[in-house]
Amino acid sequence: MTVNLTYSNQYVSYTREELIKKVAIQMSDKRFQHVLRVEEKALELAHLYKVDLEKASIAALTHDYAKERSDDEMIDWIKSHDFDLELIEYGNAIWHGIVGASVVRKELGITDEEILKAIEYHTTGASQMSQLAKVIYVADYVEEGRTFPVVNEARQIAKKDLDEAVAFETKHTLLFLIQKNARIYPKTIETYNTWVVNK
Ligand code: GDP
Ligand code: FE
Ligand code: FE
Repeated sequence: MTVNLTYSNQYVSYTREELIKKVAIQMSDKRFQHVLRVEEKALELAHLYKVDLEKASIAALTHDYAKERSDDEMIDWIKSHDFDLELIEYGNAIWHGIVGASVVRKELGITDEEILKAIEYHTTGASQMSQLAKVIYVADYVEEGRTFPVVNEARQIAKKDLDEAVAFETKHTLLFLIQKNARIYPKTIETYNTWVVNK
């Protein structure tokens, strides 16, 4: 799909094409292709749920920006930027969104809090999420390259009800993590309590 979107210069000082190049050099081609598919899906959902397309594009393109940084660099960043040191126990799966938002702010000069929160919450969700954060959370889960068993169901739900898609994703991610005996980050449980239990 060719995306025809001209950035306004309000949220990032680069053109979309420049931002894409900056993202591409941060990661493998495989991950970069995932990022482009997340953008495509995020734009589709943003259009459907009346979320700002430019913000959706920027958040999608940068959501995994820090995913390929080394563990040592991430731990240094956590220690030097006032993060809760408890974070160190969780590993890259959790760091790359939470720490990633801070890396994106510093290295790409993005200061829009809604975009940064969407990056921060893209893996774990949160009890309070903007429509943009929900779009990124869901787009990352249902982008067309994903192949896990419930992805088609998730895609159908995403077209009908964004909050229901957040709930579905949260529940199935937790089921998957528990099955693997993975360490659950407290925010993931908070997301479950808000979007699955309290709905
Ligand atoms: P990706 O970066 O595009 O691969 O996708 P995500 O950022 O959404 O997820 C990265 C990984 O983190 C996935 O394998 C999720 O299942 C996993 N994940 C999500 N929540 C938690 C959690 O609370 N604990 C752990 N250990 N992993 C989690
Ligand atoms: Fe991610
Ligand atoms: Fe991703």
